Amino acid sequence: MRIHAIQTGTVEVKKNQVIGKGPKAVRLINVLLGTTWLGPVPIYAWVIEHKEGVIVVDTGETARTSEPGYFPRWQPYYKFAVRFHVKPEQEIGAQLKQMGITPKDVRKVILTHMHTDHAGGLHHFPESQIYVNMPEYKRSLGFQGQINGYVPHRAPTWFSPNSIVFDDKGFGPFQKFWDITSNGDVKVITTEGHIPAHISVIATIDDVHYFLAGDTSYSEENLLQKIADGVSPDPNQAIDTIRNILSFASQYPTVYLPSHDTRSGIRLKNKTTLSVN
Ligand SMILES: [Zn+2]
Repeated sequence: MRIHAIQTGTVEVKKNQVIGKGPKAVRLINVLLGTTWLGPVPIYAWVIEHKEGVIVVDTGETARTSEPGYFPRWQPYYKFAVRFHVKPEQEIGAQLKQMGITPKDVRKVILTHMHTDHAGGLHHFPESQIYVNMPEYKRSLGFQGQINGYVPHRAPTWFSPNSIVFDDKGFGPFQKFWDITSNGDVKVITTEGHIPAHISVIATIDDVHYFLAGDTSYSEENLLQKIADGVSPDPNQAIDTIRNILSFASQYPTVYLPSHDTRSGIRLKNKTTLSVN
């Protein structure tokens, strides 16, 4: 098995999004009104070359984000709090092609959640089995989904994801898991917080656990400092998940790979495991 980092452009967000500020009720307002920008930070997706077929974890962002009107104009988040920088050749489809991987080779696509910078490349995978945690998929749909910050109207017309059927026995500190591969060397686990039904993927090679984290935190530093982001509806739930990840990493060698950490690519390359004191 081999894991590749695919960087689909960059994004700038507010400091108050990366490091949540204030009590729960005002954190989103602080994101919108914040004046300090961070970034650009990468938008990573992950490709796992596995003997049972290629598995893609998140699909990154699309270059269409720069088209006027791509995002709902009335949605203040897109207007005031985010700037995407994605070129067509940075989309995941183009990068997979460069690697010699065709859409037919991609057996499974797992989405950690439905935010645009994770689901924006879905159109490259019409022939794959796509898996989403169903409560998160439902949260992203319709006008309420747009209010919640998703862009369901931009999903491919054929998009109809499979639901993940979890094993409730748990995996380490994580409440539920699902074995993506027959020997369990690639697993989905539940990592609630950034959104209520967020999931992550753990791929294990030679006893090293590569933790494809999505947005459980925006960086390894924020994980170690137990900082919930500014958009998590329940910051305490996000911190519980951070504690679970730290507990897992204290027991097993873990390379922690969040989607927007500038150092995720280099940690994957160097197999740099998390040191938890
Ligand atoms: Zn997100």
